[in-house]
Amino acid sequence: MLEYVEGQARKMGQLYGYKEIITPLVESYELLAAKAGEEVRLRMYAFEDLGRRMIALRPEFTPSVARVVATTFKNEPRPFRLFCIGSLYRYDEPQQGRYREFWQSNFELMGSNKPEADAEIITLTNDLMKAVGLKNYVFRVGHVGVLRGILSEDKVDDKAQNSVLQLMDKKQYEEALKLAEDSGASQESMAVLRDLVDMKSLKVMETVENMRERIKGYETAVKAAENLDEILRLVLESGCKIDMNVDACLARGLQYYTGMVFEVNVPELEVALGGGGRYDRLIELFGGEPTPAVGIAHGLDRIMLAMQKQKTGLKEDDEKKVMIIPITGEFVAKALEISRMLRDAGISVEVEVMRRKVGKALEDADRREMNYAIMVGEKELKEGSVVLRDLKKREQKILKIESLAKTLIT
Ligand code: AMP
Repeated sequence: MLEYVEGQARKMGQLYGYKEIITPLVESYELLAAKAGEEVRLRMYAFEDLGRRMIALRPEFTPSVARVVATTFKNEPRPFRLFCIGSLYRYDEPQQGRYREFWQSNFELMGSNKPEADAEIITLTNDLMKAVGLKNYVFRVGHVGVLRGILSEDKVDDKAQNSVLQLMDKKQYEEALKLAEDSGASQESMAVLRDLVDMKSLKVMETVENMRERIKGYETAVKAAENLDEILRLVLESGCKIDMNVDACLARGLQYYTGMVFEVNVPELEVALGGGGRYDRLIELFGGEPTPAVGIAHGLDRIMLAMQKQKTGLKEDDEKKVMIIPITGEFVAKALEISRMLRDAGISVEVEVMRRKVGKALEDADRREMNYAIMVGEKELKEGSVVLRDLKKREQKILKIESLAKTLIT
């Protein structure tokens, strides 16, 4: 099933023009810790190698991608569309949907600060959820600039802002509001923050409008809401059928986000299936040219869990599978020759290598849901033919070897 979901993610990469890059499983601790939020930093599997370097198993892809872009891709024309698929590691108490080793497909669109780049990452994610057959999923969408804009106006420092956002992210709204107040948010701002906490709705454009009204006077926060408005408008006007819930207090755990943030949820699971957003300063922090960027990480384990809960059948691939059975050891070479011929024609073929009797070999082919069996035996071979058995219809016919590929393809 993992292979299937991975395959669908790769297909999205291909449909949207993203190139796959493979990054190391182990990276320097410094690199991984540099910009990760505390949440992730504390959960890293970090250790010293024999050369006394501090290294760690990657807890996310983005720092590695940022490093590659800052070094190897320095002079490449923009934008870059890149994706990675692989396993990540975070120390955690294992529970449903939360593992110490988990899989992600991670898409990054780098080089554009325009809302259409944000919209692309949202629609790509929507297309992936649809492609794996999920239903009733909802996108929670926000913009970290709204809360930060309000807190900055009151001179709440970055560290306190990060902590407020982190608490908001965990839906610990009361604690978040208290911390904002203790860190210097004015009474007026506190009233705005309280209203924002309650402002969540599936009526997307209306909510963004209400948000803009409510934060009037907080200049950078208003700019953030306008940016969010543009992004969501593009998603909807592109014809993307998508349920979105605007939430000004969605913050996402990772501290490097600078703009739109979003995550995907299904009613059957408490944890998010994926999350991402805009991070415009990360590449330069890794020594690259200033490069605006937006990205998303899809949690493949959680997508699989949601598929199981929603009883989503895997879409059958229509590739036909063929088993070639030599009747006796004498015909093994001929069976191999036919298998090569069919593979050259792009047909997926297995050769029976256990030298089982035909009956047993057919039973096995049936059990493994092959579509056809080809039996290679003396009588038919004399005429340059074999027996082709349709295992689904339970019919068989004698066929010339040279017409096998054509028959199987049509
Ligand atoms: P993050 O990298 O924290 O933004 O997470 C992005 C996505 O990765 C989440 O929405 C999850 O789907 C998945 N994910 C994160 N941590 C875990 C974990 N411990 N186990 C399984 N999936 C995870």
